[in-house]
Amino acid sequence: MSAKASDSKFITFNISSQDKSQPSQNVLSLTNVAPVGKTWDKHRANADKVFQYYAKADEHCFQQYARRVRICSELLEFQLMPEELEGILNLKLSDARFCRVRHCPVCQWRRSLMWKARAYKILPQVVTDYPKYRWLFVTLTVKNCQIQELRENLDSINKAFKRLTELKVWPAKGWVKSTEVTKGKNGISAHPHLHILAMVSPSYFSHGYLSHAKWVALWQRCLRIDYQPVIHTSGSSGMVIANAQEES
Ligand SMILES: [Zn+2]
Repeated sequence: MSAKASDSKFITFNISSQDKSQPSQNVLSLTNVAPVGKTWDKHRANADKVFQYYAKADEHCFQQYARRVRICSELLEFQLMPEELEGILNLKLSDARFCRVRHCPVCQWRRSLMWKARAYKILPQVVTDYPKYRWLFVTLTVKNCQIQELRENLDSINKAFKRLTELKVWPAKGWVKSTEVTKGKNGISAHPHLHILAMVSPSYFSHGYLSHAKWVALWQRCLRIDYQPVIHTSGSSGMVIANAQEES
């Protein structure tokens, strides 16, 4: 990664895996300039791994993905923006080119920030409009699967969730659903699951309350499976909106 100051307002960073092997007098890590650089460096390093996986594949379409991921966010343009406190300048991304490949770590990270920002924008208004409503955090899982079975599994999980929301006993008036796939403990399987933030009526805990056992039974029924899936639930009387600007 190299950087140069083009004028007093803009700093252009050139991120490339190839740069790392080339000695340069003026190489400056983004991490050295701002804390956010550490996060960029982490995701860009993961993108380098992904593009190498694609490059090794035989399929033609994967070669195209490799080329796109390799140059993703190669050029980042930041603008120095004044913060509310006078005299403090922060780097704000003003221009970049992203590859938009579904499995690019940089693009997935940026996408997650966008969805997080949208949620943080909407939720305070929902809390204001429905101050007495309660909130549930529900994690719905299934057994780990092989990577090759992931598409099929995600499809059945999403269909099962739709069935769940159509049940009479479904308690939420509104919800936010996030699909996550993590690596199984054995390092090669996939662990697809759903995180649900659900808004339920103020009387939920006295009328229409679903016990943990009931959640498990309903999720099992909607999945149409012969084992009891793992579910985590927790309730909250209010909603705390954390710092929307935090990048992780
Ligand atoms: Zn990308």
